[in-house]
Amino acid sequence: MSANPSARLIVGNWKMNGGLGLLDVLAAELAGGGWTGRAVVCPPATLLGEAHRRLAPLGVEVGGQDCHVAERGAHTGDLSAALLAATGARHVIVGHSERRAAYGEADLQVRDKTLAAVEAGLSPIVCVGDTAEDRASGRAVEVVTRQVGAVLDGALNGRPWVLAYEPVWAIGSGRAATADDIAEMHAALRAVVGGATPILYGGSVTADNAGEIRACPEVGGLLIGGASLRPDQFAAILRGC
Ligand code: PEP
Repeated sequence: MSANPSARLIVGNWKMNGGLGLLDVLAAELAGGGWTGRAVVCPPATLLGEAHRRLAPLGVEVGGQDCHVAERGAHTGDLSAALLAATGARHVIVGHSERRAAYGEADLQVRDKTLAAVEAGLSPIVCVGDTAEDRASGRAVEVVTRQVGAVLDGALNGRPWVLAYEPVWAIGSGRAATADDIAEMHAALRAVVGGATPILYGGSVTADNAGEIRACPEVGGLLIGGASLRPDQFAAILRGC
């Protein structure tokens, strides 16, 4: 399958992993350039400033992995979107299924985080996804379109944002969704969000399957967890764009 030329936004989510050493290796790996898509790395928040300093000269943007709904205040341990932006970050992931599961983040909170991000000038990467149970009961499209509908209710008013379809059962499982499932879900999501918003796929993307997934209709790029911790893999995926 030939790659979908518009599938050009490649985002790495390091989760609670990595350090300065990994940044060094990644910067060395990417130093030769060789891609035409847009690359974003989302390291732990403690590394954002340093990641921005090292990666911006290579044309790689950085993003946070979460933000608080409020602009400031008595929220010990939390980070506002404005604090992320002050590090040089231009993006923030919101509504990741790991946060929905571990912290009970619900659709309305994800909507408020999305709005907080755009107010701070960040481009939110809003994650939605079905569980294995949703899929087994034939409700995958219904669940995922409901998650997106909640965010759209918040009146993004034409400000840039990115949607990421990440089936929960595909994350970290080594079992990416099939091209048919991705095409079905991305068509449903495109019908809900309209024309301009990039829709990424995430869930067990590797250098081996990235080309096939990027070729699926309406896939605007990839959100990559595990493989983004391997700079050689991340670079190979990026250079496929
Ligand atoms: C993720 O958690 O956003 C993700 C896509 O993880 P992985 O690539 O490891 O499945």
